[in-house]
Amino acid sequence: MAEHFMDPRPAQVDLSHLLRRGKPAIDAAIVEDLGRGDPATQATLKPGIDGRAVIRAKAGGIIAGLPIVESVFRAIDPRVKLEPMVAEGAWVVPGEPVARVRGPLDSMLMAERTALNFLQRLSGIATLTARCVDAAATTDAVILDTRKTAPGLRMLDKYAVRIGGGCNHRLDLSAMAMLKDNHIDACGGIDRAAQAVQAMYPGLPMEIEVRNLEELDTCLSLSPLPDRILLDNETPDEMRDAVQRTARRVPLEASGGIDAERVAAVARSGVDSLSVGALTHSPIALDLSMTLDDDGESPDALAERVRDLRSRLSDRVAILAHHYVRDEVAGHADVVGDSLELARRGAELEAPFVVVCGVRFMGETAALLAQPNQRVILPAPAAGCYLADCIEPELLTRVWDALAGQDDVLPITYANSSAEIKAFCGDRGGVACTSANAAEVMRWALDRTKRVLFLPDQHLGRNAAQALGLSEDEIGILDPEALDGSAASRILLWPGACNVHRRFRWWDVERVRSQHPGIRVIVHPECSSDVVSLADDSGSTRHIIEQVEQDTETTSFALGTDARLVARLRAAHPDKTIVDLAEVPSMCATMAGVTVQRLHDVLQRIVDGTPPDPVEIEPANAASARATLDRMLHIGT
Ligand code: SF4
Repeated sequence: MAEHFMDPRPAQVDLSHLLRRGKPAIDAAIVEDLGRGDPATQATLKPGIDGRAVIRAKAGGIIAGLPIVESVFRAIDPRVKLEPMVAEGAWVVPGEPVARVRGPLDSMLMAERTALNFLQRLSGIATLTARCVDAAATTDAVILDTRKTAPGLRMLDKYAVRIGGGCNHRLDLSAMAMLKDNHIDACGGIDRAAQAVQAMYPGLPMEIEVRNLEELDTCLSLSPLPDRILLDNETPDEMRDAVQRTARRVPLEASGGIDAERVAAVARSGVDSLSVGALTHSPIALDLSMTLDDDGESPDALAERVRDLRSRLSDRVAILAHHYVRDEVAGHADVVGDSLELARRGAELEAPFVVVCGVRFMGETAALLAQPNQRVILPAPAAGCYLADCIEPELLTRVWDALAGQDDVLPITYANSSAEIKAFCGDRGGVACTSANAAEVMRWALDRTKRVLFLPDQHLGRNAAQALGLSEDEIGILDPEALDGSAASRILLWPGACNVHRRFRWWDVERVRSQHPGIRVIVHPECSSDVVSLADDSGSTRHIIEQVEQDTETTSFALGTDARLVARLRAAHPDKTIVDLAEVPSMCATMAGVTVQRLHDVLQRIVDGTPPDPVEIEPANAASARATLDRMLHIGT
């Protein structure tokens, strides 16, 4: 199966392997910090007195290293117990409790610094990696680590990169022959160096670094070809040229001074991977603290206060929650659904205040369909959507103007887009679609026009076009910066992507099938077409839920969608095996910002008579955006 696809990963080891090989570093850190004991703790605390503490995030980011924290506490004193309150790989917000610690107080204090040092560093690496992975999410490129790790922490640093969604480069020098400029110069040229390696280590994977396109051509003339080619310090234009010359015969890796800010531009060149030394040589540790006898309000008490406010407001408020919000938020909702379902149901409920627990475009859609007397309020108004934000209205307008013969193009926008983009489509006779009806809407459009401009999710657009039987030649991705109309294509795809569903890769399907023979793989159509083609089934969030609920023949499912929904389905169906498709749960970072505390604060303000500002749609956009949605509803889907 994998032979159809290029594999951009130099190293493929289990996360458990990295943790196992990182164990000596954990042991050394404990010894390093303990020295000959902790006189302050030993003098002030009686041994064996039990205590409790909470580890909290003081900044937002991804948590990585909870198994290591547990090892540290256990090594100091097996009676100390760690109870994680979030999953490894979860996005946390400032102030969020990450784990409870219970056991002998003196042991907890002696382990605290070492445990937090690991958790802060690894969470910092995972968070930085996730930023880079997200920046490359509209492309196929993967983010790789390097050997620029902290001495002694190589395996744990690389573990954190994986938790952040990156992939590992070689674990050590022996894993691959990497011919760099010094080797090549010392040996007298690329061909000589390559021959020397092949003569001494036949069969060993080999990567060759090139400094210019002439060296690339030399590499491409070698026989056998190297396993990988590294483009060092080249400009995005040179990389684009290299991608064309290489024509996918060898995986290309970009390297040299790439930081989070440069990732997007480099990834768009078409390279297969980007190695980013900054992930491990200069991460910013995630700020975390451990507080004894932390009496912060318990989740149960906060939930009780929300329930109380909710009952005081009675039918004056409707709470709507998207499937991907935190469980504890969804538990307060009148309706849990996808964005369009929420908007429709909110308008039916007739409550004057409609609180939408979701991201901005969901609030906008609810506001578009709301009744005139309803106010739509977002508990986290700053929470955007990576996919919806992939499209800039001014750039779209310029692309539209540049498309030749616009009278034969109809725009379709996925519901996961801003009201402004929906209005853009409405003004041009366009239509909206959902993940459930994208193919049907596309067929409707192709019955009326020669070409379709599909916004903003390239993967949903491609999957819909393929479902209609269109060939690859008929589907083209736009390069908006080049104002490229890809005029020959019937389906013009805006190059946007959801950074949650983009995380799933074809190798995840292979891995999960080898780990769980017979498992049924179901993915969301925001996943790339190679993942969809390998899966057993694909469909909207509703479709995924229904399949898990209604497929009584199948006992195990791997789901390629937001990890919070997967966890909820797992809890609701204890008789079935339900696993995340990715090795590290993939979850929407912005949805993490919708917390119970924020829901509480919104309800409190409504009770107090000072409700937050409602979601407003520019009057100039409202009618056109609504027309886009109405047109879709009229198609009958
Ligand atoms: S899951 Fe994807 S499409 Fe949905 S809100 Fe998050 S980034 Fe946007």
